[in-house]
Amino acid sequence: MNDQLRQPVAPDMVHANIIGGQDVEASDGDLLDVLSPADGLLLARIASGTARDVDAAVKAARAAFEGAWGRLTATERGRLLIKLAHAVEADVETLTLLETRDVGKPLAQSRADVTGLARYLEYYGTAADKLHGDVIPYLGTHFVGVERVPFGVTGHIVPWNYPMQIFGRSVGAALAAGNATVVKPAEDASLTILRVAKLARDVGFPQGALNVVTGLGRTAGAALTSHPGIDFISFTGSPETGTAVQTAAAQNHVGVTLELGGKSAQVVFDDADIERALPVLVNAIIQNGGQTCSAGSRLLIQRGIFDDVVNAVAARFKALRAGHPERSPDLGPMINQAQQRRVEKYLEKARQDGLTVAGEGGIAADAPSGGYYVPATFLAPVPHESTLSQDEVFGPVLVATPFDDEAEAIRLANGTAYGLVASVWTRDAMRATRVGRSMRAGQVFVNCYGAGGGIELPFGGFGKSGHGREKGFEGLVEFTTTRTLVIAHG
Ligand code: NAD
Repeated sequence: MNDQLRQPVAPDMVHANIIGGQDVEASDGDLLDVLSPADGLLLARIASGTARDVDAAVKAARAAFEGAWGRLTATERGRLLIKLAHAVEADVETLTLLETRDVGKPLAQSRADVTGLARYLEYYGTAADKLHGDVIPYLGTHFVGVERVPFGVTGHIVPWNYPMQIFGRSVGAALAAGNATVVKPAEDASLTILRVAKLARDVGFPQGALNVVTGLGRTAGAALTSHPGIDFISFTGSPETGTAVQTAAAQNHVGVTLELGGKSAQVVFDDADIERALPVLVNAIIQNGGQTCSAGSRLLIQRGIFDDVVNAVAARFKALRAGHPERSPDLGPMINQAQQRRVEKYLEKARQDGLTVAGEGGIAADAPSGGYYVPATFLAPVPHESTLSQDEVFGPVLVATPFDDEAEAIRLANGTAYGLVASVWTRDAMRATRVGRSMRAGQVFVNCYGAGGGIELPFGGFGKSGHGREKGFEGLVEFTTTRTLVIAHG
């Protein structure tokens, strides 16, 4: 262990849970170390939440739902969310730096995530009083109204890759719909969520509307997803944990949305505008060091242009540097040592299997030696059936596979267990539409990828990528259910 890791942490670097609007230490006083991905040194300590802490948070949320929070009108809830959006915007510098130190994102990426959070809060804040039900024509003697109502208390398990954005799309929507919330951030990415919960307290959210319990997935996370007081669960993370979460939810007969990642294909036809495509093809995998559920991790390239596109992408990869996230690198470190090892193991296996590395970036000379850096790596050609074409690596690793015609492109693009995002690059509008509508993916982009952040666009998967939709107005509806009122009047 590095010497600095043994040094005591300053008190303001120790973070408690936020339960019922109060800072509350873990019930058994335990803390978890938070290490900086940039250098592996101790950054802070967070409460290691227990089942008792989760229970207290669920009770605080229930009291809020049945009390001050539940009594607010939709307009009042929306105004609070908009106030929180403004508070986040005003705090952008601090949140950006904190996010970069906590999760290793380059500053520009952290800033985009923080402004994305503010936009989610604005979007759902302004949508809160536009969510309404229906009137159904029924018997002549009866009036039927269908209300959209919140579930009650919702649980949110947030991963480490985009804590700000995922908090915004999940917790922002749940609050706008009128639910009281309990959030379990990832153990590697709790600091900005704790800070935003404090901002919510400052702008006047009633106590208990937004509770945060930090800690390990197998303790705090499992306690939250199995708690009988939770009425709905939103989970983003790995498929394995998603199965555990859905199993726990089933015991309590509550619904879940699962967003579990992908192996998204970028399909490049021989009539595509390659110059326009190139930076987008590379960024779709390099953004956030490839630790993105919607990363474009597979290139499918029509055979006639395969070598040219591979060479051009390889040249760009060779120029990429992983480096200290506060020094504007092309990509930052992986979130932790386990993730770094996971990516390295995939690359070791690929080399053992004889796959060709077409282009490999480097690690910046001034990157701290204790950080979790992995060079961006592009392999081509890679057979469609290989592990690297089928598994979500969750790192800066891109593979390319050739295809001959449209039918093969569609078969390969849809040929993994996942189905989250796809892109189609072509100048032929009819082909773009035909192929786009054949993709088994929740979002399909034509001549672009992930354009604009997509706060307004429904997002979610097919198959192993999960189910349910977040983002957009559909994401708001997802946090409600209906109550049908039948009134006899004659
Ligand atoms: P994970 O699924 O284990 O963790 C995600 C969240 O779930 C964290 O908050 C964690 O504390 C919590 N959790 C873990 N076990 C739990 C349980 N039994 N009950 C309830 N909550 C639990 O993901 P990870 O270990 O951080 O990463 C492993 C892999 O998952 C990555 O390599 C990547 O492939 C994938 N991943 C995907 C996404 C995504 O956005 N789809 C995000 C993060 C990780």
